[in-house]
Amino acid sequence: MKKLVCALLAGAMSMSLLAGCGSKPAEPENTTPENNGGDTNAVSDTLRMGTNAAFPPYEFVDENNEVAGIDAEIAGAIAEKLGMKLEITDMAFDSLIPAVQAGTIDIVLAGMTVDPERAEAVTFTDSYATGVQVIIVPEDSEIAKVDDLDGKTIGVQSGTTGDLYCTDAYGQEQVKQFDNGALAVAALTNGQVDCVVIDNEPAKNYVEANQGLKILDTEYAIEDYAAAIAKDNTELLDKVNAAMKELKDDGTISGIIEKYIPAK
Ligand code: GLN
Repeated sequence: MKKLVCALLAGAMSMSLLAGCGSKPAEPENTTPENNGGDTNAVSDTLRMGTNAAFPPYEFVDENNEVAGIDAEIAGAIAEKLGMKLEITDMAFDSLIPAVQAGTIDIVLAGMTVDPERAEAVTFTDSYATGVQVIIVPEDSEIAKVDDLDGKTIGVQSGTTGDLYCTDAYGQEQVKQFDNGALAVAALTNGQVDCVVIDNEPAKNYVEANQGLKILDTEYAIEDYAAAIAKDNTELLDKVNAAMKELKDDGTISGIIEKYIPAK
């Protein structure tokens, strides 16, 4: 685990160095989003949330073809508190931060981990949940611990912290990026990758839905999930944090999480 912590720290350091060197996506200029007249600082009557609905139970597409899950319900409760209508757009995970920067969405709720490089690009709200990066392997895998990942092909969801940590620790040659977790897990069942590094709750869902897989009993990293808002939209940030505090204090948020992740 020591080695891993070093790898994570090294990863975080090189990420902030990279950010310091101006490698983060440029702040779009003169964007004119249709819905708010180009003013990312506006709080309108609609809360436009972006997510990547392939991350159950935080977000998934339900039988009515609608985005459902923990994040959709928490955002619904926040919107209700703020007297706003919630509108959810499903997009690739790595498009979420650019979309909030460009003002085409107001907020990201996507089981998104608070991370220093992302915090250069967006502002995170207070955290509302904890995530753990875990390793999924075939039941008969020789991979039993983090150290065994050396020389193995690791499947990840593109742009996630699992991707960032593994690419940093093992190099791009060892990491295969997929558009979503389901595709990474499909590659694992097909033998195209040796393991998948992903957040624990979607991992449990994927292992349940696919025979012959298991989650290693070793935690890769523990993380905080928060919503992300445009840097200049402090008005919305303050409102969301205030609503979130009330929803934490009255048990609404823990109730929503427990509905999808029953305590054992
Ligand atoms: N928690 C991970 C991250 O923020 C994965 C999130 C996701 O895939 N939706 O990178």
